[in-house]
Amino acid sequence: MNLKLSEIFYSVQGEGARVGTPTIFIRTTGCKAKMACFAMGIKCDTEFESGKDYNVEDILKWINANAKGCKEITWTGGEPLDQLTDEIVTYFKSKGFYQAIETSGLHKPLHGLDFICVSPKVAEHVIEKNFNITVDELRYVRHEGQDVPNPSIKAKHYWISPHSDGFTINDKNLKHCIKLCLDNPKWKLSVQNHKLWNIL
Ligand code: SF4
Repeated sequence: MNLKLSEIFYSVQGEGARVGTPTIFIRTTGCKAKMACFAMGIKCDTEFESGKDYNVEDILKWINANAKGCKEITWTGGEPLDQLTDEIVTYFKSKGFYQAIETSGLHKPLHGLDFICVSPKVAEHVIEKNFNITVDELRYVRHEGQDVPNPSIKAKHYWISPHSDGFTINDKNLKHCIKLCLDNPKWKLSVQNHKLWNIL
């Protein structure tokens, strides 16, 4: 059970409903939604070139050495569902881990995941086909001038997040997102707090 990973790090979640939660971020390398993002003009700040092979025991060893006591994993990317399998999710579940995922919506989710965040980067009809469940949260990135999202699936939490400039929160995008939320109160504002807090 191998995965190619860009990084593993222990930090607190900076966005969405789990903000502030200590979690082990496991960032997979690569993303098959890359072309869709380019087509939509989304700037991806994920680095795709490097990456190292890990098997699940390597990951567990890393966790025991660096995040002992934390029983929460956040699978992120890249696109974690390009690589993650039912067997890997089951393995970490058997070790007592709660598992959250951040996905673009490109693939169907896996059974056994405890918290699903879809941050849509592919066409709505693809997301609708893949997610016939109510996901935990939908997080749309918006920049100045973009309309309020019109999602094709249901979520427990609906977030709008301002497109940032690298590690800087873009003030115009932030103000635009605040206005979108005020005009459409089903939506809540999610800021990438980890960038403000200057942590990973
Ligand atoms: S889905 Fe996310 S990781 Fe993949 S290319 Fe788009 S922004 Fe980058």
